[in-house]
Amino acid sequence: MSTQSTDPLLDEERAQKYLDSLPTVEEGQTFCFECTPDVPCFNRCCRQLTLPLTPYDVMRLCRRLGMTSADFLETFATFKSFPDSGLPIAMLRMLKDPDETCPFVTPAGCHVYDDRPGACRSYPLGRGTRLSRNGVSETFYLVQEAHCRGFDAGRDWTPQEWFAHEQLEDYNRSNDRYMRLGAMVTASGGPVNQKVGNMAVLCLYQLDKFREFIDKMKLFNRVEVSEERQAAIMTDDEAALEFGYDWVELALFGQCERLKKKN
Ligand code: SF4
Ligand code: SF4
Repeated sequence: MSTQSTDPLLDEERAQKYLDSLPTVEEGQTFCFECTPDVPCFNRCCRQLTLPLTPYDVMRLCRRLGMTSADFLETFATFKSFPDSGLPIAMLRMLKDPDETCPFVTPAGCHVYDDRPGACRSYPLGRGTRLSRNGVSETFYLVQEAHCRGFDAGRDWTPQEWFAHEQLEDYNRSNDRYMRLGAMVTASGGPVNQKVGNMAVLCLYQLDKFREFIDKMKLFNRVEVSEERQAAIMTDDEAALEFGYDWVELALFGQCERLKKKN
């Protein structure tokens, strides 16, 4: 499974230029928005998308669809990589129909609505993040697509209210770990090579296979993990993904705040 790409949309300089062209929503500011099945543009936004799927997105969608990670990725995704860090990012493949529609859209709306990707939940906001002394600093951008009638009416939202309404807390918390990992790799001279990229795919995007790997390689004999956490990792996807991030961080940097090697 290749993770190599030079897609300009993943080029951080060009992505930053795009973000800089968008209006920001500053602290205390609001935006007016409402999206319901009654809008005249219903479903119009679910096509021709460059839609990244983070590890947390894929975890939710695999669970939702009852698919193995291999089947899901084979059916719905293409891997690319961030140029600076070389870390993989899955992209949702649009259908090859004339409208290039999202594989999950139906006339009644999104088939995976409760587990739709974070990027779909965030719209019309974009969330730019970077590491700061206090953790993660956020910048909110307003993405106003010409076809979108959601701005014509509705209530006023602060970014925090919108993100709470769209239940993005768990998505952002997990995705921030990927941002942090990428920033650490870049700061240490990245990008990672193909082998490390493949390890990241296994540990972050293929939690079912990662569990097999944990078992086969007896990883719990090599790191300090309580029995309670071991049980959670082997049964709970969120716990497995957290461990995946810890393991990749430990493998790449020799240390991880949340995971210690056994002496
Ligand atoms: S996942 Fe759902 S909300 Fe997102 S683009 Fe596809 S159909 Fe639309
Ligand atoms: S185009 Fe805008 S208002 Fe219309 S369905 Fe999509 S998000 Fe909602």
